[in-house]
Amino acid sequence: MWAAAKRTARFAVTAKWQLATLKWRLILIGIAALVLFLVILVVGILDTLTGVQNEQPTDVTFNTAGGLQVSDQVLQYRGLVESELSKHGLAEQTNLVLALMMQESGGHGNDPMQASESKCGRIGCITSPEESIVYGVEHFASVFERANRDVQLTLQSYNFGGGFIDYVQQNGGRYSKELAISFSQMMYQRVKHTGIYRCHRPSAVQHGACYGDIEYVDAVLKYLAPVAVADGVITKELLSGLRSPLAIPLNVTSRFGWRVVFGQRDNHTGIDFSCTPSDTIHAVKSGTVIYSGNRGPYGNLVQVRHDNYITAYAHLSRLGVQTGQQIEAGQALGYCGTTGRSSGNHLHFEIKTSEWSGHIDPAPVFGL
Ligand SMILES: [Zn+2]
Repeated sequence: MWAAAKRTARFAVTAKWQLATLKWRLILIGIAALVLFLVILVVGILDTLTGVQNEQPTDVTFNTAGGLQVSDQVLQYRGLVESELSKHGLAEQTNLVLALMMQESGGHGNDPMQASESKCGRIGCITSPEESIVYGVEHFASVFERANRDVQLTLQSYNFGGGFIDYVQQNGGRYSKELAISFSQMMYQRVKHTGIYRCHRPSAVQHGACYGDIEYVDAVLKYLAPVAVADGVITKELLSGLRSPLAIPLNVTSRFGWRVVFGQRDNHTGIDFSCTPSDTIHAVKSGTVIYSGNRGPYGNLVQVRHDNYITAYAHLSRLGVQTGQQIEAGQALGYCGTTGRSSGNHLHFEIKTSEWSGHIDPAPVFGL
């Protein structure tokens, strides 16, 4: 009887101890959940902040044959993308497709166009970048034609699937961000039980538009550099009729914009043209020399102020003008060189609204 009572007591103690452990476990799970929640919250806030910083003005005129700011990984596929597009008579859309590839993959991996689903309905059936580009371009071309060559509708449909074209045609026939949001909301209601769709962007969460990416159009178009800054400081008119900075044909060795150098993303604020030390560098327009001297990584640098903008000519071997001098369009400023942070003779050329900011892509200005 005593033994039995003792046993019961021991059981009670064990049960009580287990209950206590359970309580602690629940508390720990609670704390873990709270920490997770806070992490998600902080990441979300950071995401929103960087999202705001990265936001580009959406009212700039984009030129699909104009400038492009993509990684070198994407640029290495230019030839292949262009030749595949030519098969569909769409070679002039090369930059648009490269911008799309930049958004899809940054040019990384075996399926840089993320074309696997359009090829075989599932992820992972494409095994090489060449295959990805063949199927990705084919898919792009078919969407582009179905969308009546509407660039925004094409891009959003590349992300959402062809159903979006039908949806737009049933709702006025023109792409709008509102239609993209309502389509995403509708589709999300249909597929959310699968659990494979989740909201990445705060704006998508806000609208409950978690199917696909409602910001896709802007995300792709931001890689297409505007022909001119739309804020009225540098306009297309101001940039028309510029002389070439070199007497030899312009050969671009490095483009403007984000590029990846030794695995680091680096913003190239100008464009590089190949040249030799015997080549003179010419002012693209008349103006005033506001700087002629040596400036660190730029090496020997000449900067010329024109009416509303500045042009810069860097890495020169010799300088031929002085600060304060008035110069004519086409006047020689110095000689091609490799001074400063440079690994060979070339001209680094910039167009910008002020000495340290407002850089634009010079390529479209010279039809490159
Ligand atoms: Zn450069």
